Amino acid sequence: MATTWTVKALTEWTTKFLAGKGVETPLKESRTLMAFVLACKPIDVVARSEEEPTDDEKARYRELIKRRVDGWPTAYLTGRRDFYMLSFEVNPAVLIPRPDTETLVVAALDALKGVATPRILDLGTGSGCVAVSLAHTLKTAGVTAVDISPDALDTARRNAAAHAVADRIVFLQGDLFAPLPPAASFDAVVSNPPYIAPSEFAGLAVEVRDHEPRVALDGGPDGLAFYRRIAADAPTVLRPGGTLLVEIGSTQADAVMDLFRAAGLTHVALTRDGSALPRVVSARRA
Ligand code: GLN
Repeated sequence: MATTWTVKALTEWTTKFLAGKGVETPLKESRTLMAFVLACKPIDVVARSEEEPTDDEKARYRELIKRRVDGWPTAYLTGRRDFYMLSFEVNPAVLIPRPDTETLVVAALDALKGVATPRILDLGTGSGCVAVSLAHTLKTAGVTAVDISPDALDTARRNAAAHAVADRIVFLQGDLFAPLPPAASFDAVVSNPPYIAPSEFAGLAVEVRDHEPRVALDGGPDGLAFYRRIAADAPTVLRPGGTLLVEIGSTQADAVMDLFRAAGLTHVALTRDGSALPRVVSARRA
């Protein structure tokens, strides 16, 4: 008997196929892509398991699976990724938000406890996931979000509008601190800067290496170039008692903590992510 290609049969076949191609989360991705084709939530893919998609839906699913095994990240195929409490638009102009980076958001929220109207600077905002999450959680916060990429900023602006925080985020195009107005000052400076060293690129997953923006990944000759620049200039824009928080690669904690101490910052501390890896370094302006 010929197989009836129901939602269940298609996603089961695809889960095995993706697993065989080395995709690490094949079940989740086969459902996410099916949900995208059916214009429903991934959870509803299960409820609709006996349905047979139309020929057009099946053709679109097949095309997406083909691109996925060619190395395209699922988030770029669907144009969306959940981060912290919200869903974000993503595209190849922006790094796909990682669960690791939620550690940065949580650490920033912790640092800003008790600040009535926090002023926050996000350097290299990308999709805007950190800036928008902070503005969404802290209803009195004002955020300045900087990115060198105009396409990334456009994406971040749309994400801010979609989550109704656009009126509390100022977007500036430029290189780190360069576009800030004179005398700008903040209670917190946050950043997930590019931090991959050239020697590490070959070892990255093809999804990251060949599809995510190099400008969001390349941390200079030793991967630490942005931390040096951030450490040098953050003290001039932080209010006394203000906090600097950066995401780091898991091997960079000692180097970044040393840079922050050398810049005269105090209370230098490390926060680990959900996998217990070093992920956020924070420090305070005295
Ligand atoms: N966490 C990303 C990765 O490992 C890198 C992000 C960055 O450079 N800021 O691919």
